[in-house]
Amino acid sequence: MELLIQNLPSGKLDYKFNSIKIMPMNFAQILEYMENVPSNPVEKYYFDYKLVQADDPNVDELLLTDLDYVVFFKKGLTVSRNLEFKISTICPIDKTPLSTHVSLSNIKFNKLDDTLLKGLNVKMNGQYHAVRMPTVAQFMKIFSKYRLYKKITDMKLIKLISLFEDTEMYHQKYETMVINAEYEDITLLASLDELYFNSVEPIITYCPECNNRFEREKLKNLEHLLALGYKEDSNEYQEVLNSKERGIAVGMDSLIADFFRSVIENNRLTESQIVPREIS
Ligand SMILES: [Zn+2]
Repeated sequence: MELLIQNLPSGKLDYKFNSIKIMPMNFAQILEYMENVPSNPVEKYYFDYKLVQADDPNVDELLLTDLDYVVFFKKGLTVSRNLEFKISTICPIDKTPLSTHVSLSNIKFNKLDDTLLKGLNVKMNGQYHAVRMPTVAQFMKIFSKYRLYKKITDMKLIKLISLFEDTEMYHQKYETMVINAEYEDITLLASLDELYFNSVEPIITYCPECNNRFEREKLKNLEHLLALGYKEDSNEYQEVLNSKERGIAVGMDSLIADFFRSVIENNRLTESQIVPREIS
């Protein structure tokens, strides 16, 4: 299958190719994947990268933000022809296990805006530094040091360090600057992370237990308002009446991490797939 570059989240259109080739994994490959996938997040990221790079070496030319999408897409394509599947999550409030239907076409990727794509100068530690989204190849050069020494295993941190253009040359300096950031520099790093890497809108799912509790609470509040003399067409009453429970956001990171296990748990065989032999 060809993934067209205009569908990639970076929004960069001047790649030297029009699409990225992605092959779904077969059964043997999935088993092999599940047996061999490393648990260390740094090794796991590399493992997923090699998986898509084997399908199409042009992956190296992509911007880093597009790599995550390609990895997710390959996994989605592997488990579902129409890119729809269920995933499991746990309600963070009462720990109810939830099964959420996901359609890859419904996952919203915010395109990187043009200014971000061109790069920014940010003031940190009293100096201006150039930041831009690295290509996969540029990132992998920096990443190789973390694979070797594993002193940092937080992918968020490593990706942030790689945003600085001069990290390739002055690795130690930029690593120290990011790790030891204080005060307004922390805010700056958090903004950079938000701007460059939060390209996926989380999927919102609802917990039936929490929802029931919320609705019961709502009825009580409505009765209370009536008792206080509020009319049903008052703003106060309407506001409570129309309130909705906040959903639970399922982020892309947690989706990618346990993808196959989650899909296998949630997508059971249909009855027509296994039919008992007639006893004659
Ligand atoms: Zn809940």
